[in-house]
Amino acid sequence: MTKIFIDPGHGGNDPGAVGNGILEKNATLQIAKRINEILKNEYSGVTTRMSRTGDNTVSLVQRTNMANNWGADYFLSVHINSGGGTGFESYIFNGGVRAETVLRQKVMHDAVMKQIDMRNRGMKRANFHVLRESKMPAILTENGFIDTASDAKKLADKAYIEKIARGHVNGLANIFGLKKKQTPTKPSPKPGSNNKLYKVQAGAFSSRDNAEKLVEELKKKGFSAFITK
Ligand SMILES: [Zn+2]
Repeated sequence: MTKIFIDPGHGGNDPGAVGNGILEKNATLQIAKRINEILKNEYSGVTTRMSRTGDNTVSLVQRTNMANNWGADYFLSVHINSGGGTGFESYIFNGGVRAETVLRQKVMHDAVMKQIDMRNRGMKRANFHVLRESKMPAILTENGFIDTASDAKKLADKAYIEKIARGHVNGLANIFGLKKKQTPTKPSPKPGSNNKLYKVQAGAFSSRDNAEKLVEELKKKGFSAFITK
């Protein structure tokens, strides 16, 4: 069972970045909740925990402690940028990291970029607490700039939030080989399960082929059927 720790940035009395009527803490929670829901609803072999599911104040130490104590396989921190730029960028720790941390960043970064219509600001490295103090491979994504009108407009759109979330989920599915849950389909009836019996008269058809086709159709529907002269 793959354990994914999802960390919506900021929360409670820490709003994060603010701009264009949007609070970073709310946008990160929306994205993180959708990532969590999609994983739970659509994928098997994966279990999740979130650092917060509401507007709570959670310290950075609490966030990494939660993930470390749980023994998560991956730490995913979701943020929104600010500072007047535009586009998407991702971060891993700028100190020593495992090779898989670097590989996973590439997979996650490409998967998100594929879903969103935003400038690609590239894969970066930084000394952020959640990246440094998490014992498992970790990534932090910066999903657009809250103080840039065109990015903020996207972040205010539910359909766009969904795209960001889907991108993250696709990356996780690729990294961990997560399988889609089987959607329950109606089982096809077994031949003979329907107790009606059909005798198909070959002579009534222009060719025997046509009579055989009808027999096949009837069998597919669960009827017993055979050809007579
Ligand atoms: Zn942030």
